[in-house]
Amino acid sequence: MKITYFGTGGGAGVPEIFCSCRVCEVARQRRGRDIRTRSQAAINDDLIIDFPVDTFLHTLHGGLDMRKYHHVLITHSHFDHFLHQDLFSRAKGADIPLNIYVTEGSAKQVKQVKEAREQAFATGKRIRTDEMEIRIHIVRYFEPFCLLGYRVTPLRAHHAANVESAIYLIEDTEGGRRLLWAHDTGLLPKDTMEYLAEKGGRLDFVSLDCTLERGNCITAGHMDLERCLDTLNWLRGCGLADSGTKAVISHIGHLLGRTHAELEAEAAELGFITAYDGMTIQI
Ligand SMILES: [Zn+2]
Ligand SMILES: [Zn+2]
Ligand SMILES: [Zn+2]
Repeated sequence: MKITYFGTGGGAGVPEIFCSCRVCEVARQRRGRDIRTRSQAAINDDLIIDFPVDTFLHTLHGGLDMRKYHHVLITHSHFDHFLHQDLFSRAKGADIPLNIYVTEGSAKQVKQVKEAREQAFATGKRIRTDEMEIRIHIVRYFEPFCLLGYRVTPLRAHHAANVESAIYLIEDTEGGRRLLWAHDTGLLPKDTMEYLAEKGGRLDFVSLDCTLERGNCITAGHMDLERCLDTLNWLRGCGLADSGTKAVISHIGHLLGRTHAELEAEAAELGFITAYDGMTIQI
């Protein structure tokens, strides 16, 4: 199982457009791993996680070719994870369906955009969004489903009020590998912990949200390094993670106050790999 990180930034990316903090200035000067675009990843070469505003940038500079992918898991509807408007730029007449897996709340937004798009050119020929072959599948927390060779379980995230947010347990049913994708969540909610403890199984890989400055959790909807460590230790305590589990931090913003090299060194001491745009990990 191969995991490719196209984007590893928090909501605003790094450098933040209007920011002059040290981390953003270093990113502007050094570029490379200090640049972080918005969150998006691929599992092997057939499953995409999230479709953010930077899908276009990943297409331009990150080697992403969305024409190859026909299945996209969406975590939640914040624009740094799901720019649903971009779906309808899909070429008319696309002959292979693009399957989008979303919670019910996100699906409603897609419907609104779809309808607006159909009305947009009302004076000329109407846009037929059906011809774009975009299929929306509603996912529900704790209800596993199968796609390609994966068994996917949406779990409840602890993120934002009024936004249904999922994290995903993804099992490669052929290769027997298992990963937990947990971004845009604070400490895991009780029902998600109970589900994982009971039915999760051993994880080969875990990718955790690390948006906040260490020791300064200004919101409960994201994590800092300490909360990532608490989460990893909890997974270890339940037998879900062990020394062979690769643990990654991503969704990293300038709020951490660390350049990539600084964060990489600090996180490594705690047993974490620090993601960067373009990173690929094999498990
Ligand atoms: Zn986010
Ligand atoms: Zn900044
Ligand atoms: Zn979010």
